[in-house]
Order: sequence, then structure tokens, then C-alpha cells
Amino acid sequence: MAAMLTGVAIYVSQPLLRARSESLFVDDFEETPLQPLLVRKDSIYSAISELEFDYTTGKLSIDDYNDLREKYAMQAAEVLKEIDEFEAGGNSDHGRKRKTACPDCGFNILKEDRFCQSCGTEIT
Ligand SMILES: [Zn+2]
Repeated sequence: MAAMLTGVAIYVSQPLLRARSESLFVDDFEETPLQPLLVRKDSIYSAISELEFDYTTGKLSIDDYNDLREKYAMQAAEVLKEIDEFEAGGNSDHGRKRKTACPDCGFNILKEDRFCQSCGTEIT
């Protein structure tokens, strides 16, 4: 009985250990940018449809509607542009991502990286 309980304890603690070691390899710059952009796009689109609803139900004047519609359309265009750039490989010269390619294997890396994450070549 005691042996069985010990076995359960080891089994339960395993996923925690695995999650911790995997998180060491998560690249903040490669993995995360797209998801918040998609969330932002969705929220802008739902704001636009709410706006249209408010206008058609007479809660907004045509001037307010046009102002807000234009504002949201600009935000949406901005987000879509960022999504496009990201899906195109994130190589567009945006400045803030500070990306470069490994001279040896061409893997996308950050300029502050000292070693290539793919082949281990030292970046000088
Ligand atoms: Zn490399």
C-alpha cells in the first residue's frame, strides 16, 4: 500500500518537472507575437460590429459613427499589417525585433544572442 502511494506521488510530480524544463527553451520573441495580435484583431472587429449595431439602432449620430468607424478601421489595418509581416516570416525591417540570421545555417536569431539556437555557432 505504501509503495503504491509513493508511485502516485512520483507520477503526479512528473508533469511539473517537465513543464519547468520545457519553459527554458521557450523563445519569447518567436512564440508570442502572433497570439496577442489575433486577439486585438478580434476585439477591433467586434468593436466595429457593435458600432454598426449602435448606429443602426439610433444610439450614435452619423458623425460619431464615422469618427469611430475610421478610428477602428485604422487600428484594424495596423494590426492586419503586423499580422501579415509576422506571417511573412517576421523579416521586415521593423527595428524593434532586432532579428538577424545565423551566418552558418540561416536560422532566425536575435542580435543580442551570443550563440545560434539551431546550430550553436557563436555570433560575433
Ligand atoms: Zn546556426
